[in-house]
Amino acid sequence: MTETNPTLSFEVFPPNSQVGVNNLTDTLDQLKGLNPSFISVTASNHKLNYEETTINLAKYVKDNLHCHTMVHMPAAYVTKTEVRSILNRLEKMNIHQVLALRGDIVEGYIPEKDFKYASDLTQFIKQEKPDFTVSGACYPEVHPDSKNRVDDIRHLKDKVDSGCDQLITQLFYDNEQFYRFQEECAIADINVPILAGIMPIVNRKQALHVIENCAARLPKKFINILDKYKDNPVSLKEAGIAYAVDQIVDLVTNDVSGVHLYTMNKADTAKHIFKNTASLFHLDSVTE
Ligand code: FAD
Repeated sequence: MTETNPTLSFEVFPPNSQVGVNNLTDTLDQLKGLNPSFISVTASNHKLNYEETTINLAKYVKDNLHCHTMVHMPAAYVTKTEVRSILNRLEKMNIHQVLALRGDIVEGYIPEKDFKYASDLTQFIKQEKPDFTVSGACYPEVHPDSKNRVDDIRHLKDKVDSGCDQLITQLFYDNEQFYRFQEECAIADINVPILAGIMPIVNRKQALHVIENCAARLPKKFINILDKYKDNPVSLKEAGIAYAVDQIVDLVTNDVSGVHLYTMNKADTAKHIFKNTASLFHLDSVTE
């Protein structure tokens, strides 16, 4: 069996103000030269405002950072006609990577009928653009809409069979949850690469958001950091970054296919992590 190097990729999100745009371009410029295997750009869930947000940012990444670019595409609220037009636009921009998502169903907004699940979108993209690489989202600690783990894995298998080339996980802080999930995928004959989603916690507000909104189990070691440094933001940030580096080292040691870093648009954090893990991914470390 030939061993392949694990990949390191970044996620960024489109800002919603001009100040945010300027900050983000500064951030991205600082990421220049790190050479991740791709940078993914998130998208708003409800009625894609694709041109001004995701597409504009993806274009900036592609043109200025010269690296592979992936766009997120939540599809519950869009039609086949709209997706077809976006795919054509992406192709013209030489962007061939899509993270196919259903997106959250928002109370009070009735979804379109074309894409009930991410698997429907995946199949559609593969029919329209067979050369595109399609990724899918997955949930080591189970998607909140799922009845149970078994159902979730069964639906994931369907999604992969509909054409997913790789999977990217929801963030997690307990690697054991990821290893268990990997095993369940292997048993279910899900054989595509699974990239581990890692989000460093750099402040208390973000930690509370994760606790409230993501079904991620927080190990005692992690809770101790939050408690110990609740009044010391500098140490909390440093400890949060060190925790993420520790998670990454463990994942790579255990032969993860790749790590997808949720950068939260924070260049200093991304660079810090990159600097401390680059050689694990056989990448050149940043010099300054
Ligand atoms: P699906 O794969 O369709 O799954 C949704 C639920 O339906 C699951 O419970 C699944 O088990 C179930 N299911 C699937 N198929 C069937 C079936 N045939 N019958 C019955 N049940 C079924 N959201 C955004 O809005 N924008 C983003 O940019 C974004 N990026 C993300 C990136 C990553 C890496 C991840 C992990 C999530 C991201 N999300 C994003 C969040 C995602 O949109 C939500 O978690 C959403 O609720 C589910 O999307 P999905 O693509 O996983 O859905």
